[in-house]
Amino acid sequence: MSIEQPGFSTRAIHAGSEPDPRTGSVTPAIYQTSTYKQDGVGGFREGYEYSRSANPTRTALEECLAAIEGGERGYAFASGLASEDTLMRALLKPGDHIIIPTDAYGGTFRLIDKVLKPWGVDYSLAKVAHPDAIRGEIRPGVTKMIWIETPTNPLLGIADIAAIAQIAHEAGVLFAVDNTFASSYLQQPLALGADVVMHSTTKYAGGHSDVVGGALVVNKSVTVPGFEDTADRIAFHQNSLGAVAGPMDSWLVLRGLKTLAVRMEQHCTNAEKVVEYLQTRQDVTHIYYPGLESHPGHDVAARQMKRFGGMVSFQLAGGEQNAVDAIARTKIWTLGESLGGVESLIEHPGRMTHASVKGTELEVPGDLIRLSVGIEDVDDLIADLDEALG
Ligand SMILES: *Cc1c(COP(=O)(O)O)cnc(C)c1O
Repeated sequence: MSIEQPGFSTRAIHAGSEPDPRTGSVTPAIYQTSTYKQDGVGGFREGYEYSRSANPTRTALEECLAAIEGGERGYAFASGLASEDTLMRALLKPGDHIIIPTDAYGGTFRLIDKVLKPWGVDYSLAKVAHPDAIRGEIRPGVTKMIWIETPTNPLLGIADIAAIAQIAHEAGVLFAVDNTFASSYLQQPLALGADVVMHSTTKYAGGHSDVVGGALVVNKSVTVPGFEDTADRIAFHQNSLGAVAGPMDSWLVLRGLKTLAVRMEQHCTNAEKVVEYLQTRQDVTHIYYPGLESHPGHDVAARQMKRFGGMVSFQLAGGEQNAVDAIARTKIWTLGESLGGVESLIEHPGRMTHASVKGTELEVPGDLIRLSVGIEDVDDLIADLDEALG
């Protein structure tokens, strides 16, 4: 081991958080302050002027995010969607075109379809599992960004990050990856060629279902023509739009990140066992999990992910009502939206997280159930599912 190049967990635990020089406090302080005393007009201490612009607790998180994602610079926001909005308004303008996945997170689709499109940004949908489909949607000179998620939510589709990075860069298009489902620990899109990574830190990064937050990390050098100043444009828009992470929320995400690696290992182990159980059931008609060799994206996922993650979706025979009823019967699995916390969650995407895409190309099957497999004892999780499914 070389301390010159610390490993993932060493960075997750230490980056941005040196013990406080005055008190020795091992954890960073929560600087619950809006403003800072100036030593004479314009005499800022370490650059701190006003907490929308910068706050030391947020700085600690932003440095940690950049370190674990292998990027140049990190930015923390009030939510995942705030980070997406900031990124898109920083880099796109009316008249531009963006390509997004056919099964994007519902809120991402709503932001683009209902907010950015009326503002003048056009979009196309492409199946991210087929890089050629993405290439086919590029409008030379007009398409400015390709946005993907991998794995996708809720159908766990896999996109080949390196292949799409090449397609994007050949066309002079910026490439952004929503890395929420995989987490920084399981997947490193910047190393595979992405220009910007986004996270809903509400999910695995925070990891305890106690905070809503978002993050962007920009790659060390963005060489897409016209986008070389991406890091500065995001910084300018983060301050101008103002949807920043507060000190307490920054601190919670920072604390969550310290255990990201061990949590993800356990999420993956438990998810694999839940998938094994689902495979034994006759009434489970389809399982969506990239760890299955039968999954069309399995080989790509095996190449670009450390393991296959904690999210599992499946279809249950008997129609939508049967799925809705089964979800309501679990005791340990909590019926709720969101994902990535230590506690297992179960939900019906069609009526819950993805209700906003009903009637569009992104509509999901009515008998689909989505699991966010937590880190409880997996035997208990399986027993509870078994009882609920009957
Ligand atoms: C939750 C989520 C978002 C949005 O993040 P918020 O923190 O809820 O604003 C974006 N992408 C994915 C994949 C998500 O799961």
